[in-house]
Amino acid sequence: MIFKFAYFKLTLFYMLIASVVSLAFSIVIYNISSQEIARGLGNQYRMMHDAPVRGNLSQFIPDIEQVQREQLAESNRKLKINLLYFNLLVLTLSSVAGYLLAKKTLEPIEEAMEAQNRFTADASHELRTPLTAMKTEIEVNLRDKNLNLTQAKALLNSNLEEVQKLESLSNALLKLARFEKNSPALKKVDLKEILIEAYEKVESLAARKSIKFENKLIDLRARGDKQSLIELFVILLDNAIKYSPEKSSISIRMKESRGRAEVSISDQGVGIKSSDLPYIFNRFYRADSSRTKENIDGYGLGLSIAKSILELNNGDISVSSHPGKGSKFTVKIPLHQEE
Ligand code: ADP
Repeated sequence: MIFKFAYFKLTLFYMLIASVVSLAFSIVIYNISSQEIARGLGNQYRMMHDAPVRGNLSQFIPDIEQVQREQLAESNRKLKINLLYFNLLVLTLSSVAGYLLAKKTLEPIEEAMEAQNRFTADASHELRTPLTAMKTEIEVNLRDKNLNLTQAKALLNSNLEEVQKLESLSNALLKLARFEKNSPALKKVDLKEILIEAYEKVESLAARKSIKFENKLIDLRARGDKQSLIELFVILLDNAIKYSPEKSSISIRMKESRGRAEVSISDQGVGIKSSDLPYIFNRFYRADSSRTKENIDGYGLGLSIAKSILELNNGDISVSSHPGKGSKFTVKIPLHQEE
């Protein structure tokens, strides 16, 4: 509704600008043209007046000035009508052009607002789920008059789990906001060092599932922002571990290709259905299998944070996956060029 009104207002505004310009243009044209016509007619009649045949002409044109005035008035009237048509044409064209321009101006804003609203709704939904769980548990336990210490501790433990979920969600939301807004200065970075730091952060998670890493790291210098790149690889490695079965293996490969550094992370996990692939980088998107069947923790924000990080680092990410067999995420970032 707000946008319908804005389309209307902006169209009117564009029409107003076009009309003012065309009106000003018409006034100038009218003044110049009528002066020119008056001058032209004046010259014409002067020549007739001075011509040797003047005597004959004056028989037919007794009052030359009167005729001149009438012709001038007639020319001005025609000029006014033509300029009126011209202004009507400009008004019609400007209403169409104004609407198209208003659409072009407002459509991206409308889309951004819709995305923002969707995001707020999704974030609220994700925040509400653990809150509702906590509230219900507390209410049920408060109603229990015979609540003992063991039950109370169990309740607190369960509440703590929900609080941790809320904490990780708010951290993810903060990261998303941070990486979408700030553009860090890109410097020479050691990709091998970055991958080792990222690996160290997820090592214990992998150990818990007895997942083996087969890393082939080489020396590669890229141009990027170290901290955000560590964050990116933590997300990808964390996902590889989360979506892999126990005792499987994950491999990290690095290479240089067409002036870019390429890092790929392959796992032998659940894989992603081709119907889910186009959406996994969208905020809050989780493939159905992760939500329900596998019941793996997450909010569907990791890959959208990864995508924002790569935008900041002028890189990109691609994925290939076979459900039931595993996935491979490939990151490409510009190499550092020595000066
Ligand atoms: P989250 O892991 O918190 O759900 P992400 O944005 O990191 O959110 O991932 C989005 C979805 O992409 C996941 O829910 C999952 O379905 C799928 N996905 C991501 N990485 C993998 C992977 N390595 N193996 C299988 N599925 C994955």
